[in-house]
Amino acid sequence: MTRPVRSKALVYSGQSGRLELMELVIPLLSAGQALVRVDGCTLCGSDLHSLHGRRQVPLPSILGHEIVGTIVEMSDRFPRSDLQNESLHVGDQVTWAIVANCGHCFYCRRGLEQKCENACKYGHMGFDSGHVLSGGLAEYCVLASGTKVIKLPLGVPLEVITPASCATATVMAAFDVLPQPPIEESHIAIIGAGMLGLTACTIAKMRGWKKVVAIDPILEKREMALRFGATESMSPEQWSADFSVNQLYGCDAVIELSGAHSMIVPGLESLRMGGQLVLVGAVFPVPPISLLPERIVRRQLTLRGVHNYRSEHLRMAVEFLTSFGSGFPFADLVSSWHGLSQVESLVQHGLPANVVRVGVKPFA
Ligand SMILES: [Zn+2]
Ligand SMILES: [Zn+2]
Repeated sequence: MTRPVRSKALVYSGQSGRLELMELVIPLLSAGQALVRVDGCTLCGSDLHSLHGRRQVPLPSILGHEIVGTIVEMSDRFPRSDLQNESLHVGDQVTWAIVANCGHCFYCRRGLEQKCENACKYGHMGFDSGHVLSGGLAEYCVLASGTKVIKLPLGVPLEVITPASCATATVMAAFDVLPQPPIEESHIAIIGAGMLGLTACTIAKMRGWKKVVAIDPILEKREMALRFGATESMSPEQWSADFSVNQLYGCDAVIELSGAHSMIVPGLESLRMGGQLVLVGAVFPVPPISLLPERIVRRQLTLRGVHNYRSEHLRMAVEFLTSFGSGFPFADLVSSWHGLSQVESLVQHGLPANVVRVGVKPFA
């Protein structure tokens, strides 16, 4: 592979729905960096929130953080082995953790590597950071020092594996804070049947949760959830009516993945004694909610936030998609692939409500 000198990239400067296709110089690599050719990047819900101005990102920047690429060049100190201790070579197809961390700051020392004070977060770096080619909506991406890479197994389709580095790994992190399902009548509710929610339904089923209820206002998504391992699916209204009648038999766990602020209080109220609500979806500002502390105390409830993930969750995500990606219809969730020049009009026209993900192939 000859070393490329320029990369086409979609630059977001903060004007809602607008992306400028530019040619940017690919810098010489510093110690610890690598250069990757982007094979595919799926547009995550948070990219769409950013592009519509609902979520703050440093500007200008290149969005896109669910990325699969092929290594083109590795600098001297770029690790020669991946998260599974497999050797890394130019030409390997890889994905990598959304946050490259330093390993020695205050939060890295506390095991919160996604909150590293010296982080490079892919698809979230302003050009003034000096890390310009950090997003997936470009032909090439520069991997920062400290990036945790995983080599991808052959034969897993891009549609299945590309969401691993945000959606799947984040859901793995959410399950990681939950205990194992109780032996008797285990019951989990998944709020939101988008990419994360559908993935959560399959993980819940594979981990032995007996009753897996998916909640989503959109009928097509509720139907999809049943194909991903949910045992029941309900609209938010049906669900609230159901647990207010059957309160003693509420949920052991609820994972909130939609970000809908109206679902947080119902999520807490649906818990049986000792239950846990994990908030994942509210990654943009939502109005405050009121809580009843006495209820939390007397019912011994746990309220927990999970944002992004540690690199071990990416390893688990890739293992999971490799094992179960063909047993469930994950390949159907990325409904279409587009070139860089088509992304702006896609975003401006909005995705239909039943579309879970669209992908970008910069070289297609
Ligand atoms: Zn994401
Ligand atoms: Zn750090």
